[in-house]
Amino acid sequence: RAEVSKYKRILLKLSGEALTGDAEFGIDPKVLDRMALEIGQLVGIGVQVGIVVGGGNLFRGAALHEAGMERVTGDHMGMLATVMNALAMRDALERSNIRSRVMSAIPMSGVVEHYDRRTAIRYLTSGDVVIFSAGTGNPFFTTDSAACLRGIEIDGDVVVKATKVDGVYDKDPVKHPEAVKYEQLSYDDALDQKLGVMDLTAICLVRDHDMPVRVFNMNKPGALLNLVVGGREGTLIDR
Ligand code: UDP
Repeated sequence: RAEVSKYKRILLKLSGEALTGDAEFGIDPKVLDRMALEIGQLVGIGVQVGIVVGGGNLFRGAALHEAGMERVTGDHMGMLATVMNALAMRDALERSNIRSRVMSAIPMSGVVEHYDRRTAIRYLTSGDVVIFSAGTGNPFFTTDSAACLRGIEIDGDVVVKATKVDGVYDKDPVKHPEAVKYEQLSYDDALDQKLGVMDLTAICLVRDHDMPVRVFNMNKPGALLNLVVGGREGTLIDR
């Protein structure tokens, strides 16, 4: 069935913010249900889906550090926040009858499975959605880096990063209505910090391993399915 699809195995990065919906903080179950539906469409056509969830809707290490907390402690809290989001995402997927697993880079026996690459690939191959949580397991990294890392590790065909806008623009399209969207960007263009696509660690990683990244708008119904079957959604970052 995956023949209709351009990609057989994808790594989807969902930021914590994407789970908040219209609220200012936390998780909106309605948003999760909508995402579960969109993810279910991919599973339905035989695409293997790995997900890395962020935690910025709950905690961000750098922000806690600015408020006086030790950075590493803040990052540990941030990584735990991603586990909470992952549990909520799994709940939404399972309620939609989409088999899913949560793995954590930090062992959390009794709550979620510890990340193991070969087991993850086995789950993906059998059609389960695998949600990778706790980022890379290390402070000073981001979940964008975790998404690129896991995407490469599981031998995914593409990393797709869900955002609130249609792709990468030459300036912030929310503030500048005349902003121009890029259809395609090179890794080196993406490293231009002005564009703020992802943090530099993440981009260097995908560049070194030739992993394409597509940035798209998760608020646009059907966009995820469209890009997976080869539609020109958002911005493609590659060589
Ligand atoms: N984090 C970390 N190591 C990682 C991934 C995440 O320490 O490998 C921490 C970091 O404090 C970060 C927080 O977890 O601020 C939440 O992740 P992120 O900010 O990437 O989430 P998003 O912006 O995608 O919601």
